[in-house]
Parts: sequence; C-alpha cells; structure tokens
Amino acid sequence: MNKFDCIVVGAGPAGLSASLTLGRARRNIVVFDDGTNRNRVTHESHGFITRDGIKPQEFKELGLKELKKYPSVSYFNTTITEIYKEECQDRFVVKSSDGHSFFSDKVVIATGIQEVFPFVSVREYYGKSLFSCPYCDGWELRDQPLLVLAEKEEQALHMAKLVFNWSRDLVVLTNGVELSKEAVQELNKHNIKTRFDHIKNLIGENGYLQKIEFESGEILTRTGGFVVPSFYRPNSFAEKLGCEILEDGSLVTDGAGRTTEKHIYIAGETEKSSPSSLLISAAEGNKAGVAVNTDLIMERF
Ligand SMILES: Cc1cc2nc3c(=O)[nH]c(=O)nc-3n(C[C@H](O)[C@H](O)[C@H](O)COP(=O)(O)OP(=O)(O)OC[C@H]3O[C@@H](n4cnc5c(N)ncnc54)[C@H](O)[C@@H]3O)c2cc1C
Repeated sequence: MNKFDCIVVGAGPAGLSASLTLGRARRNIVVFDDGTNRNRVTHESHGFITRDGIKPQEFKELGLKELKKYPSVSYFNTTITEIYKEECQDRFVVKSSDGHSFFSDKVVIATGIQEVFPFVSVREYYGKSLFSCPYCDGWELRDQPLLVLAEKEEQALHMAKLVFNWSRDLVVLTNGVELSKEAVQELNKHNIKTRFDHIKNLIGENGYLQKIEFESGEILTRTGGFVVPSFYRPNSFAEKLGCEILEDGSLVTDGAGRTTEKHIYIAGETEKSSPSSLLISAAEGNKAGVAVNTDLIMERF
C-alpha cells in the first residue's frame, strides 16, 4: 500500500523546500506537481540570492534533483484531483488524475495561486513585458516607457508609486474606471499621466508590448509595465478539508504552516492567496516541513 508519513502537493519553492526538510528528516514522503506554477510564463526569476536570473524550470529541476539524494522521497509529475480524510482508517487519501490513490498521516498543500487579469490579452504579454511584481522585474524594465494597469484607485496609486522607483516615464491606465481628483493630482505632481479610457487591444510581438489601442482609436506607445491582477487558489483542497479561511481569503495558520485542521499544513502563496516571492515561499515551505516533522516526532515518540 502507498502509505506515507506525509504527502506534499506542489513542487514550487514552497513544496520543494518542505520536501527537502522532510527528506532530510528521514520522512517517507511523496511529492506531486503538474507544472502549473504561475511563473512558468517568464524566462527568468530574480531576487533569490545565489539564483538571480534563473529560469523557473531550471529552479524546479534543481530542487527535484536535490530531493533525489533522499531515498525516502518519491516524486510524481501528475495532477492531484482530490484530498480527503478517511475517518475509519485515520488517514488522508490523495487521488491523482491518472486514477491512483495515495495514503498519508499528514498533508502539505503548496499548490500556489493563479491570476485573473483586468484585461484578457494581458496574458499574451505576462512574464515577458508585463509583470505584477516590480521587485521581481522592475530592474529589467528600468527607465523604459511603462504602464501601470489597475482598476481600483488604491491599487493604481500604490503600484504607480512603486514602479516610479524604476521608471519616471509612467502612464496609469484604469480601463474605464475614473480615479478621484486627489489621486490624479498626486500622480500628476510626479509627471505620471493617467488614462481612464477603455482599452481595446494590446499590440506587440512575441509577448513584447509595443502599443495600447483604446476604444477611441487612440494609440499609446509603451514597451512594458506592471498590472494588478486579482488572485485565487486554483483548487479548493483546503476549503474542502475544512480549514478555516479569513474574509481576505487567507488561511488561518499558527505561523508555521499548521492550519486549523489537524494534520493539514499549508505553505507558500496558497496560504495568503496573494503574491509572494520564491524566497519567501521557500522559507515558508521550510517552516511547514519542520512543523510536520516536529508533530510526527511528538505523536510517535
Ligand atoms: C510572471 C511572474 C514572474 C515572477 N518573477 C519572480 C521573480 O523574479 N522572483 C521571485 O522571487 N518571484 C517571482 N514570481 C513569483 C513566484 O513565482 C512565486 O512567488 C512563487 O512561485 C510561489 O511559490 P509557491 O511554491 O507558493 O507556488 P508555485 O511556485 O506556484 O508552485 C505551486 C506548484 O503546485 C503545483 N500544483 C498546483 N495544483 C496542483 C495539483 N492539483 N496537483 C499537482 N500539482 C499542483 C504547480 O504545478 C506548481 O508547481 C513571479 C511570478 C510570476 C507570475
């Protein structure tokens, strides 16, 4: 029978880091990943010390290679479709899309989040010339003619102030939403222009933005920029398992990855349902791995 100490769902930095911690603690674990990490659309990841500029796929391969050193760790490249508790057996059942069932005492959910964009065709440019995190990609776009695309005033102001740190040639687009006079004045004071018109189309080549066409027919030239998407958890594993969730979408934890449901742990962007970074997610994965192992020790000693 495929019974494990712990099952880790997701091998982004959070899941990989939790798995490494558990493998090194001699835990019998299995890790699943289906390659849907949201940064797969970009060529390079930045800001992870010693790995600045690494390709997302290379990052994952390096992490998986490190896991291979630990004989108690198994890995499968497959989608997990269901996780539930089998009360009579006091174990979790994890089902994969290829019809297999795996059993464990504990589960780490590290499946990340996904974006919803204010304007659909942003997806074509996302990860190449449009991004959502200036700390990740601001340096690469520095001093270029940039846009900030956000549909809420607070978000537009916040993102514009951030991006201004990397480029002074900035236009804030709201795709039909009017900003307050105060907000416009604050932006204009710094020579940041605003346009509230509806966007008709983004124009560019191979993911590299060149122009924005508005419904009015007017054209604005921009080579890239930053958008403010909204985020969601792409599955309802934590919800279905009964983990408590706050109004802002974040899961209630003890700060070390333990959820309100015993034996269910969470790591990385899944927890807050908001964007983070490779380094922070990896650190949270490490914390969750330690929490799982500590609990196993205390339960079994
Ligand atoms: C365009 C872009 C550029 C970015 N650039 C940077 C950067 O330069 N520097 C930086 O620090 N951060 C960057 N980020 C953010 C970074 O990618 C995330 O913060 C980080 O990947 C979050 O880690 P995670 O482990 O929580 O989630 P993820 O990395 O998203 O990993 C979740 C994993 O779970 C797997 N998964 C999901 N559902 C299932 C399922 N049902 N079954 C099996 N597997 C599943 C996915 O395949 C995925 O690999 C960028 C993000 C984007 C979108």
